[in-house]
Amino acid sequence: MSVFDLKKWHEVPIGGVVEEPGNSREYKTGLWTAYAAIWNAETCTDCLQCWLVCPDESIVIKDGHMAGVDTDFCKACGLCVKQCPTEPKSLRLGEK
Ligand code: SF4
Ligand code: SF4
Repeated sequence: MSVFDLKKWHEVPIGGVVEEPGNSREYKTGLWTAYAAIWNAETCTDCLQCWLVCPDESIVIKDGHMAGVDTDFCKACGLCVKQCPTEPKSLRLGEK
């Protein structure tokens, strides 16, 4: 789904009520931004603090380990970058 497939203003339920519970995976909330968190696997210590703070569940975990960033949902808020304890940072904001 792209931003052009979103409902028009007159199609949105009054009050913005969500009529289809559990549909959050269908709405790729990171599509509007050209930026995302970029991961550097070389310096990452796999501490998963970025996963703890990401408000959009955009940090991808595979088999219990850090595996990257899902740019379909990352809004480039920068919380994970701020939280990442490595020096240099293992996450930075950059163009997708
Ligand atoms: S920039 Fe924000 S939304 Fe994107 S992965 Fe980091 S914490 Fe999540
Ligand atoms: S916070 Fe930084 S070091 Fe920790 S898992 Fe995330 S990217 Fe890797």
